[in-house]
Amino acid sequence: MTESFLSLAMPGIQGLQPYQPGKPIDELERELGITNTLKLASNENPLGPSPAAIAAIQGQLGELHLYPDGNGFRLKQALSRCLDVPVETLTLGNGSNDVLDLIARAYLGPGRNAVFSQYAFAVYPISTQAVGAESRVADANNADHEMPYGHNLQAILEQIDDHTSVVFIANPNNPTGTWLRSNELESFLVSVPRHVLVVIDEAYFEYVQEPGYPNALLWRAQYPNLIVTRTFSKIYGLAGLRVGYAISHPEVADTLNRVRQPFNVNSLALLAAEASLDDEEHVANSILMNLAGQQKLKSGLEAIGLSCIPSVGNFITADIGCPALPVYEGLLRLGVIVRPVANYGLPNHLRITVGREQDNQRVLQAIEEVLP
Ligand SMILES: *Cc1c(COP(=O)(O)O)cnc(C)c1O
Repeated sequence: MTESFLSLAMPGIQGLQPYQPGKPIDELERELGITNTLKLASNENPLGPSPAAIAAIQGQLGELHLYPDGNGFRLKQALSRCLDVPVETLTLGNGSNDVLDLIARAYLGPGRNAVFSQYAFAVYPISTQAVGAESRVADANNADHEMPYGHNLQAILEQIDDHTSVVFIANPNNPTGTWLRSNELESFLVSVPRHVLVVIDEAYFEYVQEPGYPNALLWRAQYPNLIVTRTFSKIYGLAGLRVGYAISHPEVADTLNRVRQPFNVNSLALLAAEASLDDEEHVANSILMNLAGQQKLKSGLEAIGLSCIPSVGNFITADIGCPALPVYEGLLRLGVIVRPVANYGLPNHLRITVGREQDNQRVLQAIEEVLP
């Protein structure tokens, strides 16, 4: 008799569905025998990494036999300067996903729960349930709200109970692109019990130009239970290297450091991230390209008759008005990869990363061609 090896796994793990990433370009090209694929599926920076990051890595290739600096001294110094926070508040991760996992491993487990919104980033339930904790999901705003599908902070507060240890909030959220304003988020922080850690995931922070959008770091002193996470995967264009970080109370950082793998951030990632921080021009260009692209993509989608969820990220999630999977598949056949979000409970939507001007034109044309 063969064992069911899944049923031998820990109960929290048995109920998990694996994270569904954007389809890799290579995979589509292998399957269809095509080239010239456009991927707008994973919110990657279409400008690529900073040239300074590439140069920094090239000088290091002969040193790959050496372990990285397990404490990430230089990158932490650079972040500390750049963000104006003490070094002791920083935790580096193998992508910010790693940091989210560290938070779950340190603060969640059986008998505890994490609260987050419906339509929130898919890693929150995975990290929570993987350690045997319960996910408590708060209803999001309705489709006709001024911030449709966005986080409803009142509903999140109502889900917090005596067993809640962590609240995950993405600002802006992925896959919706919706955001929370400074005043609403601060009144939320006032209301959360001090023993509940509030994780504000700011993966798209550097892109956001919207007035009223908060920099959660400014609340650090008032709310010691606050953890802010950011990443080099999005605007810094280093998704392939995997490096992100958290800013928290030093004691939280010390706690996370106890469960962190000794060399969780590799040597190339450390160098590339450090070099990227100095390249303000690359960041500024990325912001400008995204703002212009957002506008074009949104007006183009609306011109085809599709409505878009308001977004301040580098992506737009559009209501296709019918099941989106066939449209997604039709786009694949045209060599365009976008992101279906049915696994988030949005079966009629597609999430499209803002690309370069020619990319945005191509995806708009392809959607028009494929739409039933
Ligand atoms: C992309 C993203 C992340 C970052 O992932 P990395 O592990 O840093 O690549 C975190 N949170 C949200 C909401 C994201 O969209």
